[in-house]
Amino acid sequence: MMRKTKILCTLGPATESPEALARLITAGADMFRLNMSHGSHQWVRTVCQRIREAAESLRRDVAVLMDLTGPSIRTGDLAEAWQLTPGDTVELRTDETVPAITPLSTTVNYAGITKDIKAGDSIAIDGGMILLRTTEVSDKRILATVVNGGEMKSRRHINLPGVAVNLPPLTRKDYLDLDLGVELGVDFFALSFAREPAHIQHVQLLLEQRNSKARVIAKIENQQALNNLDALVEASGGIMVARGDLGSECPIEDLPIIQRRIVERCSWHGRKVIVATQMLESMIENPVPTRAEVTDIFNAVIEQVDCVMLSGETSVGKYPDKCVEVLDRVIRRIEESYPSGRFASDAPLKTNKHKTVKAAIVLANSIPGSKLMVFTLRGVMAHLLAHQRPESAPIFAFTPKLHVSRTLCMARGVHPFVMEFIKGSPDTNIRAALDLLRERGLVQKGDPIVILSDALHDEMTVEAILLREA
Ligand code: PEP
Repeated sequence: MMRKTKILCTLGPATESPEALARLITAGADMFRLNMSHGSHQWVRTVCQRIREAAESLRRDVAVLMDLTGPSIRTGDLAEAWQLTPGDTVELRTDETVPAITPLSTTVNYAGITKDIKAGDSIAIDGGMILLRTTEVSDKRILATVVNGGEMKSRRHINLPGVAVNLPPLTRKDYLDLDLGVELGVDFFALSFAREPAHIQHVQLLLEQRNSKARVIAKIENQQALNNLDALVEASGGIMVARGDLGSECPIEDLPIIQRRIVERCSWHGRKVIVATQMLESMIENPVPTRAEVTDIFNAVIEQVDCVMLSGETSVGKYPDKCVEVLDRVIRRIEESYPSGRFASDAPLKTNKHKTVKAAIVLANSIPGSKLMVFTLRGVMAHLLAHQRPESAPIFAFTPKLHVSRTLCMARGVHPFVMEFIKGSPDTNIRAALDLLRERGLVQKGDPIVILSDALHDEMTVEAILLREA
């Protein structure tokens, strides 16, 4: 059986070489993430070029996602690390010229923090490893008591659980990174700390102005985003459940419930959903996963998410390709056992296209061993097919456009191919597509194939469902 859930790997020092990239693709990586919090523009250029070369030599389409850092609140530089113990008082100043009034005093890079936060609010540092409780807020200074202590180094990431922050959607660096991503033709941009639909629309507009067809993924990282969840899902091409920051911003016991809610809303609105962070965290150091990690993968697969993501596991871990092999094996096993999963979309069938797609899926679901084939110019029919979650049938999507094929790399169950369409000759196109699938061993002679198209005719759009044998 072909794997439906896609694998997204974050790249880093462990996987930047052409050989390592080829190994990841061979092991099953469908997409690569360039995390703009790390790596220079030169690094991104080199790695992007290597991804395209590796994919081409392996005859596989893989997509590239550029993850924009977005606004991040950080503590300032320390002469040496602090050892914090519960009860200590820490001072955060928004202006370095303001004199320190306690020994444990540092700056914070967001001047507006004193307007957003109030006494009693929590300040989580380093993914929540250190927790402070705010006691006093004035114009340029915050005083807070240490609740959970530990070592604190320079420039640590701050989360403000439950606080609505007024940071802009993009920083100056994000604009420069976005321009680079457009120049390199990346397929997706992920926006960190997306909190409002306007943030996504802003990025979308920047991309349109630059003639980019890339899709925008909203990273859901805090309560503010969850308060606007439906609007964010609707405004974006998809959602990343950024469990790292969510786990610091929200009560940890809420995390599985939040994941489930996001998946449901994405299913309802027909948007992509990526589950990210700590899928195989222990494999950064060890060659085998924990039992709990395998069960976490089970949960995401049974929720029928589009994609699962590896972060440190593939960027800096000791066993990057083993991680992909483990994910691939575990996902296949689960999908074999639960072909229809639990979350087939029950969203309303809004247009004729939606209804035609549904009819094709009903047909494919009722014919054992059948496969879906779709001919698509802009990718619409293929994305709709994926969103309606056919049971076991894989979706072979043919398009003449490379960027359409690459955006389909994220779609659950879709295997995209670039193929020139012969105008006005639907049968020639179908035969050519079947030849390609047979040649690659993806269909066997006699397999039932449900074909869906609005792109087989030249002059007009004709939505059609055909049933053939391979
Ligand atoms: C996360 O917080 O889970 C996440 C994916 O974001 P980042 O890796 O950019 O912190």
